[in-house]
Amino acid sequence: MGTTTSVTVYGKNERDIAEIEDLIDKLDREKLSWRQEGSLTAKLNNGEKVDDEVYLNWIRKSVDISKSTDGAYDITLRPLIELWGIETASPKVPEDEELKSVLENIGYEALLLDSEFFCVTDRKLDLGACGKGIALNCIRDYLNDHSVKASCVAVGGSVLTYGDRPDNKAWTVGINDPKEPNKRLYGTLKLKGTHCISTSGNYEKYFEKDGKRYHHIFDPTTGYPAESGLSSVTVICDDGLVSDALSTACFVLGYEKSIPILKEYDAHGVFITDDYEMKTTPDFPYEIVNNEKS
Ligand code: ADP
Ligand code: MG
Repeated sequence: MGTTTSVTVYGKNERDIAEIEDLIDKLDREKLSWRQEGSLTAKLNNGEKVDDEVYLNWIRKSVDISKSTDGAYDITLRPLIELWGIETASPKVPEDEELKSVLENIGYEALLLDSEFFCVTDRKLDLGACGKGIALNCIRDYLNDHSVKASCVAVGGSVLTYGDRPDNKAWTVGINDPKEPNKRLYGTLKLKGTHCISTSGNYEKYFEKDGKRYHHIFDPTTGYPAESGLSSVTVICDDGLVSDALSTACFVLGYEKSIPILKEYDAHGVFITDDYEMKTTPDFPYEIVNNEKS
């Protein structure tokens, strides 16, 4: 998934850590990655059929989230991401004509899921916005199956807190400072029990041209990096795919439009705005320490 992983497991079985790392690696290699030849995603992008029910359920769930978010989250954006070259050494701002023709080749509505086999004819999938969350769900299944009592796993910007720490303290999950990511925390979430927490921010992958920053979260309606007045969105809920997909969607939609959607999914959110303010969903149920104000 092109990211770093951190696994903490409370207990005596050190093998759990290695097995969780293997699980993430295998999931990426065999199912999620569009880069890995032979993965289910790569097969679909090649026009081959796929009948893996577990995988197809992730696609179905993704399409549901696309519907709820009016297409702000869309797993068919691969051609757009390629056009911008945002993951390459030579990203570029596309010409209007190029953008127009690529926009004709994206859109989740064209995904047909009714048949027993799933096959994509004129779409290319990119599960970058939900893969880390899917990994959290698979890890939670592993922890359940192996009767692990407490664990905290971070796959890039998505974190699973699982069970209660033996010292009964709350889990603490940092929210990056958008101005100095990976150096400073803007705030810290404190929460007990099992949750999935995903953050999308415009500081993760970007390039600058003529003084303007172009980042990696795209608004599918314009084909440009989303500008909704936010620097980052953190979504907390009990499902990893949902927290990851919604963090991307809410980044595209902005604060106001995100509120009813988060409610629909029983999720909560922490938003850091472009002017460096923090907002949360109404009736935010977790403790949050704002380092800027404390
Ligand atoms: P990160 O990968 O940094 O954790 P996200 O979860 O927000 O961040 O996913 C961003 C990735 O998802 C992008 O790198 C791109 O591959 C893909 N993507 C960008 N915009 C969208 C979108 N509107 N809907 C779905 N996927 C997107
Ligand atoms: Mg995401």
